[in-house]
Amino acid sequence: MTTTRNPSVRTRFAPSPTGFIHLGNIRSALYPWAFARANGGTFILRIEDTDVERSTQEAVDVILEGMRWLGLDPDEGPYYQMQRMDRYREVVAQLLASGHAYRCYMTPEELDALRERQMAAKLKPRYDGTWRPEPGKTLPPVPPGVRPVIRFKTPQGGVVSWDDKVKGRVTFHNDELDDLVIARPAPEGSAPDAIGAPTYNFCVVVDDIDMRITHVIRGDDHVNNTPRQIHIFRALGHEPPVYAHLPTVLNEQGEKMSKRHGAKPVTHYRDEGYLADAVVNYLARLGWSHGDDEIFTREQLVAWFDLDHLGKSAGQFDEAKLRWVNAQHIKMTADDALAPLVAQQLARLGFTDLAVLDLPRAIGLFKDRCATTVEIAEWLGMYFAHPTPPADELAKHLTDAVRPALQALRERLAHAEWTAPGIGDAIKATLGEFKLKMPQVAIPLRLLVCGRAQTPSIDAVLALFRREEVLARLQHV
Ligand code: GLU
Repeated sequence: MTTTRNPSVRTRFAPSPTGFIHLGNIRSALYPWAFARANGGTFILRIEDTDVERSTQEAVDVILEGMRWLGLDPDEGPYYQMQRMDRYREVVAQLLASGHAYRCYMTPEELDALRERQMAAKLKPRYDGTWRPEPGKTLPPVPPGVRPVIRFKTPQGGVVSWDDKVKGRVTFHNDELDDLVIARPAPEGSAPDAIGAPTYNFCVVVDDIDMRITHVIRGDDHVNNTPRQIHIFRALGHEPPVYAHLPTVLNEQGEKMSKRHGAKPVTHYRDEGYLADAVVNYLARLGWSHGDDEIFTREQLVAWFDLDHLGKSAGQFDEAKLRWVNAQHIKMTADDALAPLVAQQLARLGFTDLAVLDLPRAIGLFKDRCATTVEIAEWLGMYFAHPTPPADELAKHLTDAVRPALQALRERLAHAEWTAPGIGDAIKATLGEFKLKMPQVAIPLRLLVCGRAQTPSIDAVLALFRREEVLARLQHV
């Protein structure tokens, strides 16, 4: 439990809009959001759109819509990296000036040749430091016409480590890290000292510094970037933030969740009748725990969330469990609050004139048997649609012995008090008169009025219809 709140906490979600966002990726938004809220801190949204070829506005829109739906509202942003290019170039220039970065004129062909030589000698391919300035070293003459990249001067020897909130102490040897390219070649025709497009790992650090991020909570596919980023932080005179690298989310087949492996966009679950709070609850539990609590509200999550109870192993998506969590949240949610969501689902089924029904009351009657708002709407459809009971079931239950009883019941219902008890009395009186048992009348009655043989208590179900509608449905018994 978060015992002391720390309002100076600043977290971010930094998605790359290169494909639609699915449940696996949006968990990386939920945790920094929850951690910021738990501390009364600030949650920032940053769109990492520097991969111009693959980034799309459509993907940005799905991110924004998914976050809005789940209630993961940022306090700042969205910031777009493509709008911050001048700032990144300014910081590259700063690193060049301070000697932490240098221009490298090795051409792609030379780099390829170097790689081949190293592989032939069974060495790990890496940049050989040809253009790395060192005290007393003479650099080769600058070749004409070659546009340089800018490389970061990674410290040599020693290690870089951090205490990860998920993985514990993580250590990399500096000698395993290349001199990272932090800016690509400037375009032909630009000034000789022009700086080309800054690269991903570099932009992330400049942003995390400028946005004063205190805790970086992200997927563990970024662990290998972290040592490089830490070095850049230090070269810029900053201590790195706290890191928490979240284990991957696997799909039901045990593969990394991805669009290619059938993952659906976050908003699919809204359309399928899941509640935002249930999805938040489910995703929170998929990599974090609060004792044995499985079902909790958004408020409880915010009160409890911390980085000390993050899971170390990959979470596996389980749709049946998500449905179960959703069913619990449907039970917990007030009927009035469910009504607009169910109305949306009814509209999708083509039912827009809902005035004939007290919608919240109807929801209250059916919700315990439903896992989604789509299922509630499917039940309530029977109040609006003409019933079409299966012919074989009708033939089986609507026998000549029962018909007169249903006709008599219709007469009684025409004058009964139109409440569940009033309707119940009319049914009981009819059973007594015809010496029948409840199911003998209730099943054909359900089939004729509701189109199906099973419903909640029939008197309560009928009371939600208008009397005229029930009489009309029983007209041709
Ligand atoms: N843009 C990265 C991604 O979508 C996240 C980078 C980060 O959180 O540092 O995987």
